[in-house]
Amino acid sequence: MEAEASLGGHVPAELTEKLDPHRLVMRGTQAYQPRCIALKGTIGEAAHCGIYPQRPSVCREVPPSWEFGEPSPQCDKGRTAHGLPPLTPDDWIGMHSEPASEADTADA
Ligand code: SF4
Repeated sequence: MEAEASLGGHVPAELTEKLDPHRLVMRGTQAYQPRCIALKGTIGEAAHCGIYPQRPSVCREVPPSWEFGEPSPQCDKGRTAHGLPPLTPDDWIGMHSEPASEADTADA
């Protein structure tokens, strides 16, 4: 349903394939060495989801470790599988911009 535009789905259907009669998966995720078709770049160097605003709910349910102040065991497991260390709180320093305060926007 998430890939069915007529039902309000947002995941690009052409990037999915059938897992069974009732479920879809992202292409590439069922391979012996899985790599989602939507993943862009080189893991460990610079990689990102190419459909981030349209990613499926299963992806939205796995937050990156510490982005929102908590570890994510599933994120850590995924990174470990690719030989990467788990993210730490320090990895997020300066990653989110804060809205300007009144003092910053007040006329001088
Ligand atoms: S977050 Fe994006 S690249 Fe990662 S598995 Fe989901 S759709 Fe694929």
